Amino acid sequence: MSPASPPSTKAIQRRGLMLVISSPSGAGKSTIARNLLEADPQMSISVSVTTRKRRPSEIEGRHYFFKSIREFEGLRQTDALLEWAEVHGNFYGTPRDAVEQAMADGRDMLFDIDWQGAQQLQEKMGGDVVSIFILPPSMAELQSRLHRRAEDTEEVIHTRLANSRAEIEHWIEYDYIVVNEDLDSAFASVKAIVEAERLRRDRRPGLFEFVNGLLTETPKL
Ligand code: 5GP
Repeated sequence: MSPASPPSTKAIQRRGLMLVISSPSGAGKSTIARNLLEADPQMSISVSVTTRKRRPSEIEGRHYFFKSIREFEGLRQTDALLEWAEVHGNFYGTPRDAVEQAMADGRDMLFDIDWQGAQQLQEKMGGDVVSIFILPPSMAELQSRLHRRAEDTEEVIHTRLANSRAEIEHWIEYDYIVVNEDLDSAFASVKAIVEAERLRRDRRPGLFEFVNGLLTETPKL
């Protein structure tokens, strides 16, 4: 009798991961998200729709899809948004189609959204969601980062700082907490979280086939 062939590790497919990253404005979330996308070809980002005014450095369709309030309302009413929220006086939402496509293909997706969006995704998508909250090392550092960014007016910075306390109060609803004192080590922590989550047994139904193969394999003595 010929020995059973060794199991292929290709069979160990896994479900796509929905990685939610939240933080108060200026805590470094967007930089960490950008670095992760550059470093990790398996990860793509969910591009949100927003009614906020475009900042000079932002590109339509890459950073956001910029919409009027009327257009946003239309998307909301036709259930085209997986979640939506009002943040700092503007509306933001996650287009449903792109997420459903990524999940169906087993691809990982990154969401740079606030605590309201994180809550909605956790309720709707359950175990596929992994959430990380990025904290600043201090409120003083948060304020100076917002000023250094110099893309918003004084008034907008003031609103964002006032709102950051409310955002931070939701830290306990997240799976992982990373304090961004130093960007390199905060980024390393986020990468480690992603790597570990990808190895979770419950995300990898293909393991059953792989392990069955291992156990029926009969190596030649
Ligand atoms: P910003 O105006 O600085 O780009 O984003 C403001 C806040 O809105 C950030 O905390 C960001 O994570 C959040 N945000 C961006 N897109 C979405 C979204 O689609 N849904 C929700 N709930 N929040 C979002």
